[in-house]
Amino acid sequence: MSSASAALRRQFPILTPGLAYLDSAASAQMPVPVLDAVRTFETSQRANVKRGVHRLAEAATEAYAQARGRVAAYLSVPADEIVFTGGTTASINLVAHAFGSLLKPGDEIVLSGLEHHANLVPWQMLAARGGITLRFLPITGDGRIDLSALPATLGPRTKLVTLAHVSNVTGAIVDTAPVVAAAKAVGARVLLDGAQRVPHGPVDIGALGIDFYAFSGHKLFAPHGVGVLWAKAELLDAMPPFMGGGEMIARVELSGSTWAKGPAKFEAGTPPIGAAVGMGAACDWLSGLPWAAIAAEESRLTQRLLDGLQATPGVRILGPSGLQGRAPVVSFDLAGAHPHDVCQIMDSKGVALRGGHHCAQPLHGRFDLAGSTRASLALYSDDSDVDRFFEGLAEARRVLL
Ligand code: PLP
Repeated sequence: MSSASAALRRQFPILTPGLAYLDSAASAQMPVPVLDAVRTFETSQRANVKRGVHRLAEAATEAYAQARGRVAAYLSVPADEIVFTGGTTASINLVAHAFGSLLKPGDEIVLSGLEHHANLVPWQMLAARGGITLRFLPITGDGRIDLSALPATLGPRTKLVTLAHVSNVTGAIVDTAPVVAAAKAVGARVLLDGAQRVPHGPVDIGALGIDFYAFSGHKLFAPHGVGVLWAKAELLDAMPPFMGGGEMIARVELSGSTWAKGPAKFEAGTPPIGAAVGMGAACDWLSGLPWAAIAAEESRLTQRLLDGLQATPGVRILGPSGLQGRAPVVSFDLAGAHPHDVCQIMDSKGVALRGGHHCAQPLHGRFDLAGSTRASLALYSDDSDVDRFFEGLAEARRVLL
């Protein structure tokens, strides 16, 4: 490990020797600058935002606004297009309700067979209310969205294409250009679920040509309970609010109300202020990191995982076998062993993994499996994690097979 990556890892106090934390796709750990920012907010600025005129209320309001700006900078978008939500799930539900309410009977939404349930169930609930049809892009044998099916799946009725930017199971990164081109050709909007993309470097949202982007703070080295929906300003204007309450209004009468403009329209009630401040600090910290070197290191470690797993009898990798178009998320099946048993034995060796369907049951069905075991890397992962992973896997095979 280079001294630069060792210094990076040292910023995560929870990563003590003896722990191989390979569950970052579920929740990534928080570095000192994020922990410090949350502590500073909670100990010297804590108050509710917007409503107050006292010093703390002003400091909190300023910290919250600064967080929005920092997140916007990480995505290269204007701050007034960033809506703070509770997480990816909340962001997608917001779009399903607000954008969904603009749809007409007969309209269609296109998804894929590898979506996290967060990008599937809200659309099923919308379709169940009547009139909207869901159509699905199939999944290839190596766990990618089959983009050759775009022409046959999209049509004049398609109003939205909503896909995982990166699969939380196979690690496949979707090639957005053909998706956006196909959607534009039929006048459809595009939503990307970026939950598994944003922890691996800044995203230039403007360059993608999409309309909505959703992700969670806790996968981005920030606290739980906060997330982001980015939406084009014209869509924030056009969509009705999802939740009603304080702070999202312009004026309230007993006979009815009018709405605030911009993100405020979608941020009813007290937001997760401290968590948003942490997310802003995370984005600020991430913006300054050497991403080319980090990406190279994540790839090298992913290749080690892929090579070692491919050489292990009985292992089947659910996803691309090479590094091309692939994030550092590696799921596999060990024939004859339940993923929970594999995870438990590996935990006893200090390896934190995830076992189960990873909220992607249809995708596991595609592979004729009920679940899998997943190792996911982050910018703090190193060779000791991978070494420990293979020691743990050897132990799991010895005990279970
Ligand atoms: N989408 C993807 C691709 C994910 O990996 C996850 C979480 O694992 C989610 C959505 C849901 O995120 P959250 O539970 O933070 O709302």
